[in-house]
Amino acid sequence: MKKNKSHRFKTTCSYCGVGCGIVVEQDAKGKIRVEGDAEHPVNRGMLCSKGLNLHYVVSDHSDRLLYPEMRWAKNQPRQRVSWDTALDRAAAVFKTIIDKYGSDSVGFYASGQCLTEEYYIVNKLVKGYLGTNNLDTNSRLCMSSAVVGYKMALGEDAVPASYDDIELADCFLIAGANPAWCHPIIYRRLEQHKEQHPDTKVIVVDPRRTQTCTLADLHLQINPGTDIILYHAIARYLIEENLIDDAFVQNHTDGFENFKNFVFQTSLEEAAFTCDVSVSDIKLAATYIGQANGFISMWAMGLNQSVIGVDKNLALLNLSLITGKIGRPGSGPLSLTGQPNAMGGREVGGMANLLSAHRDLANPVHRQEVANYWGVPSVPAQPGLTATEMFQALRDDKLKAVWIICTNPLVSLPDAGLIEEALKKARFVVVQDISNKADTLQYADLVLPAAGWLEKEGTMTNSERRISYLNKVVSPPGEALPDVEILCRFAKKMQFSGFDYKRPDEIYEEHARLTKGTNIDISGLNYEALQEKRSIQWPVPALGHEGTPRLFTDQQFYTPNKRAKILTPATIYNQSEPVSPEFPLILTTGRVRDQWHTMTRTGKVNKLKQHLGKPFLEINPLDAALRDINDGDTVEIVSQRGKVRVNAVVTTDIKTGVIFLPMHWGKILNRDFGRTNNLTNTLVDPKSKEPDFKFSAVQVQKYQKP
Ligand code: SF4
Repeated sequence: MKKNKSHRFKTTCSYCGVGCGIVVEQDAKGKIRVEGDAEHPVNRGMLCSKGLNLHYVVSDHSDRLLYPEMRWAKNQPRQRVSWDTALDRAAAVFKTIIDKYGSDSVGFYASGQCLTEEYYIVNKLVKGYLGTNNLDTNSRLCMSSAVVGYKMALGEDAVPASYDDIELADCFLIAGANPAWCHPIIYRRLEQHKEQHPDTKVIVVDPRRTQTCTLADLHLQINPGTDIILYHAIARYLIEENLIDDAFVQNHTDGFENFKNFVFQTSLEEAAFTCDVSVSDIKLAATYIGQANGFISMWAMGLNQSVIGVDKNLALLNLSLITGKIGRPGSGPLSLTGQPNAMGGREVGGMANLLSAHRDLANPVHRQEVANYWGVPSVPAQPGLTATEMFQALRDDKLKAVWIICTNPLVSLPDAGLIEEALKKARFVVVQDISNKADTLQYADLVLPAAGWLEKEGTMTNSERRISYLNKVVSPPGEALPDVEILCRFAKKMQFSGFDYKRPDEIYEEHARLTKGTNIDISGLNYEALQEKRSIQWPVPALGHEGTPRLFTDQQFYTPNKRAKILTPATIYNQSEPVSPEFPLILTTGRVRDQWHTMTRTGKVNKLKQHLGKPFLEINPLDAALRDINDGDTVEIVSQRGKVRVNAVVTTDIKTGVIFLPMHWGKILNRDFGRTNNLTNTLVDPKSKEPDFKFSAVQVQKYQKP
């Protein structure tokens, strides 16, 4: 008998937006092993702890959803059903609700972890065929503020720089991000670059002293919410010292004089006082930036997840624009995306306010182009409900049914109490996912088991516009199906035409053709080209095109007059929930190194629990002493919305007046703790609708056993 051989495949890590290349080896017995792909331009063979342990996630099926389950009536237990029964019921319920209450009475809530093909299908299904724009995703919690900032300043949701610019830069400003833990391979490239070029300057802006600060020449430990004031003060000093690029500003930007007048209204001393940093440190940061040949800004949720997130983004982008350090080697804004395919989702228009291929939902010509392409009469003009709006509408019975794909909103959305109420009140909840460890499942009327990483084929786009192909290596367990197949089967049950795809490459090519002539043109791409190249950066407007590592090299921006906009905000002050005598501390939330989102995958890997296996509270010694709290004590944290119980870590890594909680743990994983989002507020940025996770007013007290 012929002995089976082992196989090696190349694919892409499915965790964060860095998008590392992975080599998967499957031995003769089917056992999976992973290693970094030495030939991949992103990680050059390196992997972080999460990526290195991905094979455990694939091989352990103990938590997997294996077959469809359905409740025949509310309050009855779910029972195993066939795929036909499950999707017949889904179609019947959606048709009934839409007939009775209209298309806007249903909503879909998806994920930045979905593949581009999945995003394309759900977008086409919801906007083209169900007739509503009520499709949003957890990417709303991630990059929305950066997206709006890019569009306003540069005319397009387009990251200008590439990771390869890291090795060409000599100054970095890392704002509201901890890449050492959350984007580890970017951090390692930066670390290696600084080792080889010790004169490279790294500025970190963060109210917490994180692991990333070990690389910093300057840590600006600002008060939460004062970012705009800091960047304006840096800009003021750059202008005062003539460290700006006058020719670039004159020839390629609008709005400089207005901006200059605006930033000169606040003295460096006032700014330093408000931000709680020194004037000399503001000057030093400006000098590092102004004197650099290559300046890169990197940022993540610390800027984006804010009620003034868009304005924070604009203030940071202005530093690149006034110094002309954009579109040049080693220079440019380089936002760090949280999720692996948040950018791919936006390419297909898979959010409530977006249209396919970065077209404009408000433009009737654009809407008709898409409608014609899909063979439907129209695409609705009214933007749909965004993430938080969708669950508020569900609670208020304005939305009747929600279909949740690959995300766990009961743990990840702000104000978990509100989300729980919404899920309880919903007439019909569908959860399409891989794991039975998601808190949200408790409220599902219909559970649809999906295929996970390595179990399906498709594409994703990382933080630097790099599209990667993902291989299918193993079959999904039980009756789990790839998400595109689930969605296409549902569409057919709804009697919609246009969902008869034989393979995912047909979906990809349909998406790629729809981008032709747009700023993100990838009409030169198909699976064959992607399989050959493994990855490529958009735009890729023709077959054989080599991709586009850096945008704006000709200093022509995507605005109507091709000039970038230097914009000023209506106010420089934070608009978050105010602290009060009752709730005097600011809660900021974030991630730990070895866990991912709500831990439905990383939570089952023992090796990853060894780093930080339990939730914890970071509190400054002064705030702890005021409350008689010692390191390791159990404390209760309370806000207007709820409470959690957790052990305290007393540390000077966090400023006085601020506390930190990781966002990962839900009730299933840690019943005593609760959920971090029991505490967080529902405020959002008015332009991006991104929640204000980094600023909720809370109180902390030592826990006394009743
Ligand atoms: Fe995966 Fe991100 Fe780690 Fe790379 S840095 S291995 S993409 S989790």
